[in-house]
Order: sequence, then structure tokens, then C-alpha cells
Amino acid sequence: MSHAHGYAALSGDQALAPFSFERREPGPNDVKIEILYCGVCHSDLHTARNEWNNTLFPSVPGHEIVGRVSAVGSAVTGFKVGQMAGVGCIVDSCRTCASCSDGEEQYCENGFTGTYNGSIFGGSHNTYGGYSDQIVVDEKYMLRISHDEAQLAAVAPLLCAGITTYSPLAHWKVGPGQKVGVVGLGGLGHMAVKIAKAMGADVVLFTTSANKRDDARRLGASEVVVSRDADQMAAQAGQLDFIVNTVAAPHDLDALLATLKRDGTMVLVGAPATPHPSPNVFNLILKRRSLAGSLIGGIRETQEMLDFCARHGIVSDIEMIRMDEINEAYERMLKGDVKYRFVIDMATLGAAE
Ligand SMILES: [Zn+2]
Ligand SMILES: [Zn+2]
Repeated sequence: MSHAHGYAALSGDQALAPFSFERREPGPNDVKIEILYCGVCHSDLHTARNEWNNTLFPSVPGHEIVGRVSAVGSAVTGFKVGQMAGVGCIVDSCRTCASCSDGEEQYCENGFTGTYNGSIFGGSHNTYGGYSDQIVVDEKYMLRISHDEAQLAAVAPLLCAGITTYSPLAHWKVGPGQKVGVVGLGGLGHMAVKIAKAMGADVVLFTTSANKRDDARRLGASEVVVSRDADQMAAQAGQLDFIVNTVAAPHDLDALLATLKRDGTMVLVGAPATPHPSPNVFNLILKRRSLAGSLIGGIRETQEMLDFCARHGIVSDIEMIRMDEINEAYERMLKGDVKYRFVIDMATLGAAE
């Protein structure tokens, strides 16, 4: 075992605080990385505060992890000490079910092992995530990073926000000549705009706040529609091939479904705490529209996304924070006060203790 340092919540109503724990020594197939940066996802906050009522404490959140390989097991062939590497939302899965066999580990029929709050087979505690100085993961679940090293901090959010939006855009084959809607301009939405644009689509951003117009255009949207404005929404009726809806708050799906063409699909990637109002079925039937959902992405596709983003120079827009600023960052996230992702500089972890 090796001694690790991080930040943990000890219960749902306590702030995150310094925490020491043990990581396993790398086995033959394991890669160990020294964590340099970790993105801050809304799931981290929900888990730390036990808002999904499934948190095992202590909880060390963080699943947008990038760092440098510091050790490799004897059978590891894909990674070398000194290389940059990343870990996303998944650190293991059953490897034998139909989904795992298809490389879609996020849909593992036996439940994938989450990077944090996952159960370790035969282990005495849950998995601990990236708000820490090191992590040990089987090389099958470790990602290669080919971005410029100077971009590393801004690559971290690709491991969850990036793949969550890339996967549906790729699955539904978004490309040139298509008009693609993105609903919401937060951590997920700003990645969806950049990636859909890089795939060649004409991107329309739907937002409730007119003051996001300039930012949306800077990020790659060619049109910005204020979804509260009925005239602006009516002008989009039947125009869109595909929509990625990143908004987690319950909202009216009908107004958005009405902007899809015949055979268009709207995919939901935000998970609402209480259900959206049920959509009007006629809105689907009359134009053979689909309403779908999508969960992160598998390991193969996450690698494909990282390589795609490196080729197109895509990273997240980030605000770097110190480890001891995490509790304040959570409060700011709840107010939507972040452009567009907080990333923890793990070099500040020592200083914070
Ligand atoms: Zn996440
Ligand atoms: Zn499986």
C-alpha cells in the first residue's frame, strides 16, 4: 500500500477537508499516476453532499483526472513512466457482459466501478477519486493524452464533460451540413458547442440568459436562441437535425422538440433531481422524432474523443482553483458562477494541509 493525501467529505453535511488514505501498489496490469489537475463536476458535489442518497463515506470525489505516470506494472504495454495520462469516470467493469464486450463499459450490465464512490470487489472501502495526489488504475481504463503539455489542466474536464457530450454527437453521427442545437451553456454545454462545431455542424445555442450570446458565439455557435422568447423559438420550428440537452433542471421539453426536423433526435445528458414535465406525444409522433438519453462514454470512445480534441485544439474553458478553495467553488457552481469548469491545481494540495 502507499500513503495518499487528498480531500474528502466525511458526511453529507460536512465541508470537504484534508484526508489521508491508502492506495494499492500497482499490480502487473496497473498504471499509477501522480495527479496534477482534477476537474470539478456537478456529480462531485451531489456525491459529497449525499444528494443521491448513495454516498459511501469518507468520499473523495473527482473523475476528471490528469497527471503523469509514476509507475507501471510488469505487464503494462501501453504506458511509460513520465507520460501524461488521464482517468475519467470509470476505473473498472465486469469486462464480460454484452456492453463491456462492445466497449460500452458505461452501460456494463453488472455495473461499472466508478472512479469514486464505486465498490471495490473484495475491498474494504469504496473507490477514492481525483481530489488526491495519486491514483492506481488498470491500464485498460487509463487514457492517453496527446494535447500539448501546456494545455493539460484544461484537458481534465474532457474526461467527463467532454465525453458526455462527444458520445451522443458521435453516436448520432453529427457532421457537416447538419444544424445541431445545444441546450444550456455550462460545463457540458460549452463542450458540446465546441465539439459539434469541430464535427462540422452549424451550432444553435438555446439559453435562458440573453447575456450568454457573445460567449456562445466565441465558443462556436452560429446562432443563439433565448428559449424564453416565443418568437425566437417559433423561428427555429422544424429546423434542427439533432439536439444535445445539457440542462439538469426540470423544464418544458416540448418547446425544444418542436425545433427538430422530421426524424430528428433530442438527447438528454443532464440528470434532473425531479422529472421533466412529460412531453406531448403528438410532438414525437407527427414528425417521427426521438427523445433519447446518453451516459458518459466507454473507454475506447473516450480515447477517440481525447484524440479528436487534440487534433482540433479543443480544451475546456477553465478557472483554476487551489484545493482548499473547493468548498467555495461548490457554492459558486450552484450559482452558475463559473466559466466553464473549475480545475483543481493539485500542487496546492500539500500547501492546503
Ligand atoms: Zn462528471
Ligand atoms: Zn460489463
